[in-house]
Order: sequence, then C-alpha cells, then structure tokens
Amino acid sequence: MTIHVPSDPAADARLLADFAALSQIGATPAGGVERQAGTAEDGQARAWLTGWLTERGFAVSCDRIGNQFGLLELVPGAPYVLAGSHLDSQPRGGRFDGAYGVLAAAHAADRLRRHYQESGDTPRFNPGVVNWFNEEGCRFKPSMMGSGVFTGALSLDTARETADTAGTTTVDALARIGGLGDTDVFGTADANGGGRQVNSYAEIHIEQGRELDKAGLPLGLVDATWAANKYEISVLGAQAHTGATAMADRQDALYGAALAVVAARELAERFGDQLHTSCGQLTVYPNSPVVVAREVHLHLDLRSPSDELLAEADDLLRQQFAEIEVKADVRIERRFAHTWLGQAYPPAGVALAAAVAADLEVASMRVKTRAGHDSTNMKNIVPTVMLFIPSVDGISHAEAEFTRDEDLCTGVDVLTETLARMLEGALTPET
Ligand SMILES: [Zn+2]
Repeated sequence: MTIHVPSDPAADARLLADFAALSQIGATPAGGVERQAGTAEDGQARAWLTGWLTERGFAVSCDRIGNQFGLLELVPGAPYVLAGSHLDSQPRGGRFDGAYGVLAAAHAADRLRRHYQESGDTPRFNPGVVNWFNEEGCRFKPSMMGSGVFTGALSLDTARETADTAGTTTVDALARIGGLGDTDVFGTADANGGGRQVNSYAEIHIEQGRELDKAGLPLGLVDATWAANKYEISVLGAQAHTGATAMADRQDALYGAALAVVAARELAERFGDQLHTSCGQLTVYPNSPVVVAREVHLHLDLRSPSDELLAEADDLLRQQFAEIEVKADVRIERRFAHTWLGQAYPPAGVALAAAVAADLEVASMRVKTRAGHDSTNMKNIVPTVMLFIPSVDGISHAEAEFTRDEDLCTGVDVLTETLARMLEGALTPET
C-alpha cells in the first residue's frame, strides 16, 4: 500500500513547536492548562487555531453552538472527512487532553494539503479540521456538547440556553469570545446550514488510562466505548442550628450526601475493575459552618464496559439511596444528566486504522475507551476512526498529564495516513 505522506523530522519539529505554543495559552504553574469552555483562555486558544488554519489556506467558521471548523475545499461540493477533538480543558487540566487531537488533525490535514498540492492528485473528499465546543462539560453541562448538537444527540436550543453557575449562557460566553456563528456550517440549506456534508470522522486522543503505557505500545485502536450513567442528585433536608438542634431532630442533607458518596464508592468495590464510580462535584446549601445543610447537589457518575452491569449497579444504587433516606431522614432526588450505552466503534474504521498501523510499522493494540469523546457521538452518524496514544501512568484531568514527544509524532503520522485513505474513500462503500 502506498504511504501518502511518510514521517518527516521537520514536520515532527513543527508539530512539537506548535504544541508548546498552544500549551502556553491558559498555562498553569504545574505544567497544565486551564481553558474552560467559553472563557477568555478558550477564546485565545480558538483564535490561535483560527490563525494557524487561515495562514495555511483553510476557511474557518463556527456553527451556532460554537463548533469551530477549518475547511479546505479541494474538490468543489464534495463531502468532508473531518478530524479533530477539543481545545477546552478541565479546571487545572492537562495540556494534552483534546488539544493534542485538534493540533494533530490540523497538522495531518496540512500535510495532506501539501501532498495534494505537490503531487497534483485530487482526493475524492475534502479535508476538514474541527474543534468541538465544550467537550469537557465542567463549566456547562453536559459534556460533549458541541458534537452532541452536531449529531442530533442534544437539541441546539437546550445547548444554547445552558448556563454556568454564574448564570452566563453558552451563547453569551461564545459571543464574548467571538466563537458564535449564525449557520450550521454543515447540513441542508433548509436547516439554516451551509449545505455541506460529512463523509466520515477521525479523532486521536491521549488514552487517559494505563493500557498502552503498561503494554509499552505507541498506538491504541479504539473498538468500543464504556457505558456511562451521569446523575444529578439533590439531597433534601432541613436547615438547622449545628449546636442547638437535637441530633434526633436533624435532617442533615450533607450527612445524607456523604452516605451517598460512600455508597457509590463501595458499589465500585463490589464489581472490581468492571465499574468506575465517582462523585466529582458537591454543592452545599447554605454552606455555613454553623448551619446544618438543608440541601446538597451532587454530580455522580457510574461507568462500565457492560450495559447489564451498569443497569445492575443503577438498581443497587437506588436501593442504597432508599436506605440512606431513612437513616439520614432526608429525601434524595436523582435524575439522569447524561447517559450513553456501551457501543462498538464501526469495525471498518478499526480495520482501516489497523491496516495503516501495520503499513507504517507502528505497533498497536485494540483498546476500549472508558471516557466519552466527541467521536462517541460522531460514530453514530458517520464512519469513524478513534485512535489513542499513551498517557504516562494513565494520568488525566490533572496537570501532571504527560505523553512523550515521540508518541505525539507517531500519532500524527498514523492519523495523516488514515485521513489520506479516508479522503480517497476507504470508509465509503461503493454504490
Ligand atoms: Zn478529551
């Protein structure tokens, strides 16, 4: 099989220099970044990407939920092969999560631009780079928002009306950083879009787990995603005096919430490594040192490779909560904030990535993703490829997140060749 764009030390150096420059935006003292969706820092990262793409001839535009596209129309009117990830981060997040995938996509698309320019060949489809808005879901919930709207998993109106804890909506935040478009960029003209079509999608991301690092392999071919249940929970008690109120009279919402946190953790212990549970956010009302809390909001998530196990865990959690309601004399309301089933990635995409890895002599293994990614949404509407590169010690959503330079470079080589084949129709059944 022809290798379209062989690896190239000069291209590697450009990638690493660009990654260092991008990592300066919102940099934190311990080597991470803080660029929550729609903040000034997110705006700076987006402007940096716009500049980079524009200089290289890509047309940059945003849709009505702030997804940022850099499109290169090599074949007038042909559908696009999109590649990307997200530039937003968690608070005090790592500099690789998402940002590497966007930069890798930009570099891969640009290498292909040069390839087609120099060879005089024409691909069947057009290349495009995408930075999905608000993948992280920390400031605005839910996560994977931009790709959720793009794929129809989330309504545009709901996403546009979503506000952060200060009451700022996504639309206001995006308008402030110049990230809001007034069309859909893709889709039919009737739906207020630009009439463009997506042919397929590829994403590369750090693994955020230890499998590749443990195996000493530079590449993961993602063949399935874990299922997830994310809950918003309200524990309702009664406000009282921490000193004067008799213990028997208390309806302590924080006590109930604490029991719920422990119950979730113990649930995970019951299922070994087949269930991950976490409470990542707790808001206490009124949060005064001398007041028994009247209400606590928790964000809890349960994840598993098995839909059946997740359903069983959900049931057990419901029973536990009923017991906690009695024990703490509180009421617990829970609702699903975001949920997805465990799903396979399209086998054709996995096979394509495996063929590319073999042709480039890059050692790889199949892996599952425990975290959600924008590709989790995209795979539901178009043929999709998802690639992982290693995370040292599996650290992620933390400043110490790290991936070695050589792995960053290898990932772009694999993505470039994968995109080259997708541009020529590798994931398009002949009609
Ligand atoms: Zn990510």
